[in-house]
Amino acid sequence: MRPTCPPRRTSPPPRALALLGALTLLAAAALPGRAAAAPLHVVTTVEGLAALAREVGGDRVQVESLSRGVQDPHFVDANPILAVKLRGADLLVDVGLELEIGWLPPLVNQSRNAAIQPGGPRRFTAASVVPVLDVPTGPVDRSVGDLHPGGNPHFLTDPTRALLVAKAIAAKLTELDPAGAAVYAARTADFSRRLEADLARWRAELKPFAGEKLLDHHRTLTYFFDWTGLVSAGELEPRPGTPPTPAHLAAMVTLARREGVKAILCENYYDTRSDELVARLSGAKQVTLPGDVGGDPAARSYLAYMDLVVQRVVGALK
Ligand SMILES: [Zn+2]
Repeated sequence: MRPTCPPRRTSPPPRALALLGALTLLAAAALPGRAAAAPLHVVTTVEGLAALAREVGGDRVQVESLSRGVQDPHFVDANPILAVKLRGADLLVDVGLELEIGWLPPLVNQSRNAAIQPGGPRRFTAASVVPVLDVPTGPVDRSVGDLHPGGNPHFLTDPTRALLVAKAIAAKLTELDPAGAAVYAARTADFSRRLEADLARWRAELKPFAGEKLLDHHRTLTYFFDWTGLVSAGELEPRPGTPPTPAHLAAMVTLARREGVKAILCENYYDTRSDELVARLSGAKQVTLPGDVGGDPAARSYLAYMDLVVQRVVGALK
């Protein structure tokens, strides 16, 4: 006896198919945001850039930074685990100006992610959208410790430049995820409003100290001085990346006394012993600053980080 054939499946009539299609479209439209798709995986080199990407990306992005805010961004251990993070990145955001040249290129090569190579469609270098300061006019030699051969890479110490970067990250996210355009635009506008409000408050707090001269450990605060009206008297490093020498520190003590320098500023990833020495001998205050978002437990967002920097500088100048 022949086995009984299963009943033949019949196709639904065209009208039922049309109804099903309409219902699917309605369900998709009702879903909030990008719930149906995975968030874009954004990898940044430093926490400041990660914080800006989170501000404009919201829950349409999943962001991680290759370095921590307590680390010196010039010298990060190129651990292969970081290359694995880059392998699945939908977007890599770096600072540029050779800040990460000692550790990022080998990681990007190991990642085998062709789209995040320099100039690739999923690579955005923040320095490309900001006016750069401290561009050397003479010969530079990184081999003897000059870490800023293409100009100063520490532009996130200026909120106006950080806003340019945030807007450019939003534009890149929109290019990669056009369905999120309205979300990115709204979040960028909201971040811009909050930043402008904080900037007005910071400017008012700093105004009484315009023209005050300060010393910096590394040339990290060029852009901070640019927007605050404070003035750099010099750095404890003889050149960016070269450790302080006794002769240079002695010259800085003389300079600090002569110029009436009230504070010596230093990011918390540097050894502060030379700062403390110059402070003691010159009468200035030694002030430790978070080097980035995450560089202090209170610096959890970009605006909180910048607020902490401003409050510590104002506190030292009062
Ligand atoms: Zn530097």
